[in-house]
Amino acid sequence: MDVLVIGAGAIGLSTAISLAEAGLSVTIRTAVPPAQTTSAAAGAVWGAVKVGPPDRVLGWGRTGLEVLSKLAAEPGTGVRMAAGREVSRGPLEPYYWTRLLTDLRDCEESELPDGFTNGWHYTAPLATMPVYLDYLRARFERAGGTLEVSPVASLAGLAGQAPVVVNCSGAAARDLVPDPAVVPVRGQVVIAANPGIEEFLVSRDPEPPWIVYMFPHGDTVLLGGTNDEGNWDTDLKPEIAERIVAGCAAIEPRLRGVEILGHRVGLRPWRPEVRLESEPLGDGVLWHNYGHGGAGISMAWGCAAEITRAVLG
Ligand SMILES: Cc1cc2nc3c(=O)[nH]c(=O)nc-3n(C[C@H](O)[C@H](O)[C@H](O)COP(=O)(O)OP(=O)(O)OC[C@H]3O[C@@H](n4cnc5c(N)ncnc54)[C@H](O)[C@@H]3O)c2cc1C
Repeated sequence: MDVLVIGAGAIGLSTAISLAEAGLSVTIRTAVPPAQTTSAAAGAVWGAVKVGPPDRVLGWGRTGLEVLSKLAAEPGTGVRMAAGREVSRGPLEPYYWTRLLTDLRDCEESELPDGFTNGWHYTAPLATMPVYLDYLRARFERAGGTLEVSPVASLAGLAGQAPVVVNCSGAAARDLVPDPAVVPVRGQVVIAANPGIEEFLVSRDPEPPWIVYMFPHGDTVLLGGTNDEGNWDTDLKPEIAERIVAGCAAIEPRLRGVEILGHRVGLRPWRPEVRLESEPLGDGVLWHNYGHGGAGISMAWGCAAEITRAVLG
């Protein structure tokens, strides 16, 4: 084995694929299968929400946008190009990273939901995470990789197991590293039958821990959500689900009385800055790749490429 990757969320799988497709022999160890990770709960539209530092994020985000846009053109990846709006009842400036988008424009008045005064419209890759994670796992195994569901008790204990270890443990890095800069940001979402919504919509109005958004995925629509900092609770909270559906239905009347199909909860691995750096581990090297906050799906390919370049020297 050339490389041992810890974690099979979007970050671990993308990093493992990048290394395996570069010709290295790669094994993933993960505490839970991909479908049970935080990554499985994501919306998931390309963007750089709650992630830093901005200079590196722009580079990782550019790579993510390129790779995900290409995947959107391939069948079976779970990724497609989707149009949508971010809207507000007050003044709203596009984020710095929206400069990477080619078709960003202000919303026409007719495109704003009732009561909203500002917004922008754009097209970006949107992933249906359960399908996308299946695709990533299959692609990793096609490249010769092996995935083991087997929790790691300590990083130091991995010395000597592979010349390169990559730590992609998400919010669990707080204890595993340990790294007190990592804070979970709990996100709960509702999966509903899609009443015909075609464009995604994000309302930037609610105060933390709330946010209102809807992402259509064919026959289903993912409704959100929460941004609850410091909360490790992964249990479904029915009262929060009710509030999510009510918040979305207040903006999009077609969601009133919508059929609920499921619920997901994830812990965004927030850190003021993504930790992408290496340190010695025994005679080998330990790479850290965690702390992607609200943007891990979007940053994954850029971070993976950076580690692969460094490992190949
Ligand atoms: C509701 C919600 C909506 C989101 N929307 C978006 C979006 O629209 N766009 C976007 O880009 N991002 C979005 N995100 C953020 C994104 O989901 C995260 O940034 C991303 O999932 C982080 O991926 P990860 O692989 O680092 O972590 P995870 O997906 O949490 O994976 C961590 C992996 O590490 C493993 N692990 C942990 N500890 C150990 C151990 N001791 N031994 C072995 N394995 C271990 C776990 O089992 C798991 O496999 C959203 C998140 C949420 C919750």
